[in-house]
Amino acid sequence: MADPNSVIAFYDERVLAHQPDSEAPFLPGRMDRRVRQLLSSLNVPWKYPEHAGRLTTIRHLLELEPVPGLQFECGKPATREQLGRVHTSSYLERIFELRGKNAWLDMDTTAVSPGSVDAAEVAAGTAIAAVEAVFQGRCESAFALVRPPGHHAEPVRARGFCLFNNVAVAAAHAQAAFDCQRVMIVDWDAHHGNGTQDIFWADPDVMFFDIHRASPFYPGSGQLEDIGEGMGEGTTVNVPMPAGAGDRAYLKAFHEILEPAADWFKPDLILVSAGFDPHSFDLALNVTYEGFAAMTGILQDLARRHCQGRLVFVLEGGYHLLSLSRGVKTVLEVLAGGTFPEPGTAGLAEVEAAAEFHRLAFVAANEGSDLES
Ligand SMILES: [Zn+2]
Repeated sequence: MADPNSVIAFYDERVLAHQPDSEAPFLPGRMDRRVRQLLSSLNVPWKYPEHAGRLTTIRHLLELEPVPGLQFECGKPATREQLGRVHTSSYLERIFELRGKNAWLDMDTTAVSPGSVDAAEVAAGTAIAAVEAVFQGRCESAFALVRPPGHHAEPVRARGFCLFNNVAVAAAHAQAAFDCQRVMIVDWDAHHGNGTQDIFWADPDVMFFDIHRASPFYPGSGQLEDIGEGMGEGTTVNVPMPAGAGDRAYLKAFHEILEPAADWFKPDLILVSAGFDPHSFDLALNVTYEGFAAMTGILQDLARRHCQGRLVFVLEGGYHLLSLSRGVKTVLEVLAGGTFPEPGTAGLAEVEAAAEFHRLAFVAANEGSDLES
């Protein structure tokens, strides 16, 4: 068993080569011109929000403010066989044909540049490397810092910036290569992980728990009633949230739904689709760094209770560079044994001290005047 609080972050520069060109036409002819006209009349430049700066910012922050004890390792590309556990061979053929090209794959802004297919293979393979590290006992937990993200990618379709479903590839690899039957995937990205849900919809050995902003927020799936089907009925758990939901609601969902679900399912590994877009800076929800820290602590407890601590984070979304990089660092600090204040308690001790300081001036004076009257 690995040392408690030993953590490895996996970072591989090859994932930076995914650089979709925002100038390349992304919709068929007329439609593309219309969208661009509309955007330029609004004075909004079209930008591809899922860019390499997301990862370099995380890396810079971790260099500037190192997390004590955190080790770094490089990733590796996933093999065709590893990707083929969750994607069809016809889909893989079509994606591999795009190697070296610029192309738009989906109206919802999923595109590739010449380096994208290689980058996507490394993203999925790096999630696998993180799973291998925890099963080999080299660390208790690991974080695969990867892009393009994965949780919207379906068995036969690229969607929402995602080409290969990294977390699903990692789960399937754990089952194929190690003594691991049951995998729990916790997806706290602001967007529903439609691809991961699809892949494991009828699979009783993978429990998928997803807390996300409710439809019609992208991608619009993940209703409360969607619980899986067939043998997998009951191992899909969706918790849709209203706009602006924050720490208290998230932690209530973790305590009252996720914890009992995990205690019932008894996973051999916990994987996390960790998006940092629930942070308020991404304007959809209202989770704070303390909230991410508390959720990480709960997952660490569950992993220690059921799976010898094996807990692997895989990066998904998060587009504001400050909350993305600070959010990742917060998670790593908790995994490495650091502590954070309970959400909503920052400043309470100071207010208590200040109240005591001012008590004589007002509270005691009021009590005194009450006595006189
Ligand atoms: Zn997201």
